[in-house]
Amino acid sequence: MIDVPPPALAYIGLGSNLDTPRDQIRRALAALARLPLSELAASSPLYASSPVGPQDQPDFVNAVAAIRTRLSPLALLDQLQVLEQRHRRVRLRRWGPRTLDLDLLWYAGVTLETPRLRLPHPEMRRRRFVLEPLAEIAPNLELDGETTTLLASRLTDQPLRRLDS
Ligand code: ADP
Ligand code: MG
Repeated sequence: MIDVPPPALAYIGLGSNLDTPRDQIRRALAALARLPLSELAASSPLYASSPVGPQDQPDFVNAVAAIRTRLSPLALLDQLQVLEQRHRRVRLRRWGPRTLDLDLLWYAGVTLETPRLRLPHPEMRRRRFVLEPLAEIAPNLELDGETTTLLASRLTDQPLRRLDS
């Protein structure tokens, strides 16, 4: 018998504010469910949020998904970037509008600091549109010893609006 390591649990943040964002997010969730060596474990409801940075752009639709995967962190990031390209993401300016943004938030507790991949995602603790949906599907997940629920409760930026799915 060959010992196969158990799949790693990973959380992915999804965001879109162009070209019918709800459809982009729904299609992206379906695509995550079809990733090689992976399965979708959970997904949050969809939320609307005001943009970070430039305000002269449409609101974002956000969600967070959990997957179980045998892909390495970098192989998973490759797959996420392929999906972004498939949604014809155009990157015009920093924090500007995008058809699909997929961020690898957390991967099995791994800490990584490379130019291509930083784990856990450095901005997630500060972003309500990440922490609230994440806390919904992973209320007891700890970042530096604090649960997502506690971290989310401390944020004071604009509330999210839950969308009917
Ligand atoms: P942002 O999501 O912050 O708006 P981008 O989506 O344009 O920015 O990503 C910029 C770069 O961030 C990508 O080229 C990617 O290699 C890098 N990156 C570093 N860490 C991560 C991570 N945890 N998840 C996704 N991308 C990351
Ligand atoms: Mg990104």
